[in-house]
Amino acid sequence: MPKVARPKPVLLPELCKGCGRCIEACPKQCISMGTEINQASGLIPVIIDADVCNGCGLCISACPEPYGLTAAGYELEDPKDLYGHRRPEQEGPVTIPDQRIPLPQCEPLVLKGTYASAIGAILAGCRHVFGYPITPSTEGAELMAKLLPQLHGAFLQAVSEVATVNHMYGCGGAGLPCMTFTSSPGFSLMLEGISYMIGAEVPTVFVNVMRGGPGLGNIGPEQADIKLVCRGLGHGNTHGIVLAPTTPQEMLDLTMEAFQLAFKYRNPVIIAADGYLGQITGRVNLPETMVKPGLPDWAVYGDEEHRHNLINSIYLSEPSLEKHNEHLNAKFSLMTTEEQRSKTYKAEGARILVLSCNTPARMAKGAVEKLRRQDVPVGLFQPVTLWPFPIDHLKTWLAPTSGTDPVTDILVVEASAGQLEDELRLALSHAGIQGVRLHHLRHMGGVLPQEPEVIEAVRNIHSNQPQEVTS
Ligand code: SF4
Ligand code: SF4
Repeated sequence: MPKVARPKPVLLPELCKGCGRCIEACPKQCISMGTEINQASGLIPVIIDADVCNGCGLCISACPEPYGLTAAGYELEDPKDLYGHRRPEQEGPVTIPDQRIPLPQCEPLVLKGTYASAIGAILAGCRHVFGYPITPSTEGAELMAKLLPQLHGAFLQAVSEVATVNHMYGCGGAGLPCMTFTSSPGFSLMLEGISYMIGAEVPTVFVNVMRGGPGLGNIGPEQADIKLVCRGLGHGNTHGIVLAPTTPQEMLDLTMEAFQLAFKYRNPVIIAADGYLGQITGRVNLPETMVKPGLPDWAVYGDEEHRHNLINSIYLSEPSLEKHNEHLNAKFSLMTTEEQRSKTYKAEGARILVLSCNTPARMAKGAVEKLRRQDVPVGLFQPVTLWPFPIDHLKTWLAPTSGTDPVTDILVVEASAGQLEDELRLALSHAGIQGVRLHHLRHMGGVLPQEPEVIEAVRNIHSNQPQEVTS
């Protein structure tokens, strides 16, 4: 019987990911690990010694890449025969816009902060939530696990924070609104994935219900992650809009807004809440409309129309990465000018501003209310965006153009060791604002600044005896 020559394998180096499965499969040991990076893929393909090969084909069967290894003489099928015609770029997918759907009027609800945030996400069109229990954010994930299956959505309890953030990468990359609920030590573990998402421009929403640190710390309220969310989202060229709610109503409103901002800029958005806010209940009004999400043209949606799309954060050549980083930084600059948010309370005519966010702002508001009744010229300035810091808004109180007296003193009230004050100092410095005197009232470890302490600190400032209050 004539001997039939069996075709030997041909390696397409740009499609080989160097997994080594073919090496294990080969009975003749004729495949070895390569040593050179393939410029097209950025990976190191294997090397085949065809002289020793007997053409058994086991390596081809073992290869997980459809075209990594092929038999000699095999011709690559035209992809259009496999997947249909690729559309020319100009006829590519178009963005399907979001729709606003009117909601029936209803009585206000009484909700805890985490529930309000979950409902805000559902009303924003989020139907995919990835997460796990972590106090004090657990109830958000718990409610989503109950509701989403009834809304044709999915809650996936991920095996870890790393799994969570990478599920989100995939879901956000498909152009679908998705989110997680987490708390400080869990958020820390997600930072690598967030950095990748910022690089690949994937929109997602993180609700970080901050608790006392460092390490596991405790489950009390602390604004321990302000520096992390404002400055530490990755290894360079990384920022995300950070929204700081103060009430359950703002938990709902800002979570809804977070999805809009995430898709507007193709970037993760972080809700920085605190443990107390996550747990307290408050009156919450539902909005007049909810969102039926569309689909962006860039989505890697998995259908024929979106087949040419690619989500990627790897730029191997130095000029291409620099160009990408210039693009990202231009986007961050736009966020800085366009997305500053703040609120004030009785700031008109104030010479002293109490600057505070999250739950400490509630204590500060009560103090301002009482002090104003005693004719102390004090107001509240509440940054709603921590990044970008609303310095343009604050500037109008520090250097008013209307001829009114400017604010001369700012008291920063916070549940951290000065992280909010650091953001303020940085913003003042970048804006070239000098002369305003800064004071602070701080607590940590789950202890919150109390209204009488704020009143006392403001009185000290007002009587021209500024002094640092250290707790
Ligand atoms: S065809 Fe068989 S002998 Fe040749 S490289 Fe593959 S596994 Fe090894
Ligand atoms: S199995 Fe395929 S992808 Fe993996 S190393 Fe071998 S040729 Fe490359």
